[in-house]
Amino acid sequence: QVEPDTRNGFCFYSAELNRHAHERLLLEAGLREVLKTDGLALHYQPQIDVATRRVTGVEALLRWWHPVLGNIAPPRFVLLAEQCGLIDQLGDWVLQHACRQLADWRQRGIAIPKIAVNVSPISFRNPELPTTVASLLTTHGLQPDELVLEMTEGVMLDADAATLACIDTLHNRGMRLSIDDFGTGYSSLSYLHRLPICELKLDKSFVHDLEHSDAARALTTSVLRIGESLGMDVVAEGVETEAQFRFLAEHGCQIAQGYLFAKPMPAADLERWLANHVTQCADTTVPALPGP
Ligand code: C2E
Ligand code: MG
Ligand code: MG
Ligand code: MG
Repeated sequence: QVEPDTRNGFCFYSAELNRHAHERLLLEAGLREVLKTDGLALHYQPQIDVATRRVTGVEALLRWWHPVLGNIAPPRFVLLAEQCGLIDQLGDWVLQHACRQLADWRQRGIAIPKIAVNVSPISFRNPELPTTVASLLTTHGLQPDELVLEMTEGVMLDADAATLACIDTLHNRGMRLSIDDFGTGYSSLSYLHRLPICELKLDKSFVHDLEHSDAARALTTSVLRIGESLGMDVVAEGVETEAQFRFLAEHGCQIAQGYLFAKPMPAADLERWLANHVTQCADTTVPALPGP
């Protein structure tokens, strides 16, 4: 009979835990530091009108490069920020830089109609969010409908009174609300008609499986129908192939976002990409749908 080596098990676990705790401390300190020193960056990914291939807007995605640990995945440092009370500060940084970037594009005549930012469920509980956003828009001379706030389904499902009030105020002030990763939360749909949602973002896991899975196709067409009947745009995220794009186009999806068009990139790269994209759209007597 083999005795479990609890001592070694413990040692291993403890070393692992130590490394983890150490890294976490390093990250937390790094995050506090980087918020003061502006070491974060936003990358921008275009969203494409399926019918015309025009750019309807961009999504801002946060990037953090840590001097010791290198590139940190956004879900990881966003979770960390939520856990250590830095999420509102991080969210404000994102909103501020996104608004400043859009205003800069406006001034330089670069045609990007709107910008979407991801907002943590915790920030939707902050009664100051609408005021923060409104004053940023004023500062940068932007219209409220040029900003899209993306929230995950979780926000809707556990919405407390503070969240509902916040969402109402944002909507009344004309800001656009979008449900990110739609279809991956609980399957309660009742909130959709109660809350002022403009847009659903079909989760990329469905898009990924479109070519191989009947279920993914069925779920995708259902989401498109929900969007249509409730008067909401549907943005498909994670579109990587022409076949996925074609399926989405043929089933009435309005907007596509994904590597097929462009990865998220720094503002200057996006501007170059856009110039090239606009020329391409003008050159080809645009086939609304790509060829087979
Ligand atoms: P998300 O908002 O659902 O963003 C979409 C993610 O899919 C992004 O990952 C994007 O880079 C990636 N993506 C885009 N096109 C494709 C594609 O064609 N194929 C594949 N496989 N992936 C694609 P990223 O930038 O790593 O961000 C991951 C998540 O982190 C975001 O998911 C969002 O939930 C969160 N996040 C990012 N930036 C922020 C932020 O500023 N604030 C908050 N609260 N969360 C953020
Ligand atoms: Mg998003
Ligand atoms: Mg998403
Ligand atoms: Mg996602």
